[in-house]
Amino acid sequence: MLKMKKTAFAVVATLLAATSAWSQDAMLNLYSARHYSTDEALYANFTKATGIKINRVDADDAGILARLKAEGAASPADVILLVDAARLWKGEVEGLFQPVKSKILEDAIPAPLRAKPASEGGTPWFGFSTRARVIVYDKIKVQRADVDTYEKLADPVNKGKLCIRSGSHPYNLSLFGSMVEHLGPARTEAWLKGLVDNMARPPKGGDTDQIKGVASGECGIGVTNSYYLARLMRSSNPQDRAIAEKVGVVFPNQASWGTHVNIAGGAVARHAKNPANAVKFLEYLASADAQNYFANGNNEWPAAKGVKLSNPALQAMTGGSFKSETLPISAVGMNQVKVQQMLDRVGFK
Ligand code: FE
Repeated sequence: MLKMKKTAFAVVATLLAATSAWSQDAMLNLYSARHYSTDEALYANFTKATGIKINRVDADDAGILARLKAEGAASPADVILLVDAARLWKGEVEGLFQPVKSKILEDAIPAPLRAKPASEGGTPWFGFSTRARVIVYDKIKVQRADVDTYEKLADPVNKGKLCIRSGSHPYNLSLFGSMVEHLGPARTEAWLKGLVDNMARPPKGGDTDQIKGVASGECGIGVTNSYYLARLMRSSNPQDRAIAEKVGVVFPNQASWGTHVNIAGGAVARHAKNPANAVKFLEYLASADAQNYFANGNNEWPAAKGVKLSNPALQAMTGGSFKSETLPISAVGMNQVKVQQMLDRVGFK
């Protein structure tokens, strides 16, 4: 009896040791909110270079944060990739990430694009690419000067022209949260009411649908992340390129605080079972090669210092460069609850 027990224990122990050795050495569990096909090559290259196999779980930002919370200490997640600064901030304040100490990451990622170091001295999350929230417009029916700031989207001159996705989508919540910093809460709520009054249709679809709405003539003005327009510009499908050619693009607020910029970024999960592999993966994302897939592959701007942008669509859109806003990301995150209440009050779906 005793012998059997001992044998069973030994088998279990051996299995555990084998599992743990295998997972320590060769495995990475990735929870990703990125929805870009070019990332596949990024993951394949990492596995090729390191031998570390990636298991990926795909969900949106909110779904990933909810899942991490529900799983708690039992979570298999090692690395978290999210596509919105406010959600990264939320994950940080909810204690879902563990601070990372890495000279490679600190040297590569500029301070404004990463979290402030936690008290333990590590950094809770890092941005790996940036995207601008831009305005597209009907070049025939709309004057560029009427849409060159976010404030003008609410101007009565644009009545019946605006198309925009749901106000509660993270991309909009972050833009509106930044407006609270620039305008204060009262003026921001009045501005949001102005957006509702100017809508050509109730909010629906994603950002690409707003660009298509402008190209089809249903909308005079749309709001979109820059990469959705760049994707149409660079598409192999002539119909996509025709859509992009029909619309003008504005990087708003160049004469004031600059265009709202969001980030996609990553963190190591609080209860990571393979933390060393997780850090290795984040460091890999900051390398020039990986930045090419991570940022350029999705028509975003690379976050890592010294990585050259070689994207014709982004060059064409900006004429080389543009002024982006400089705001503490934590402030944008903290405004989200306030913004959602404003949206409810003004009837912004
Ligand atoms: Fe997106």
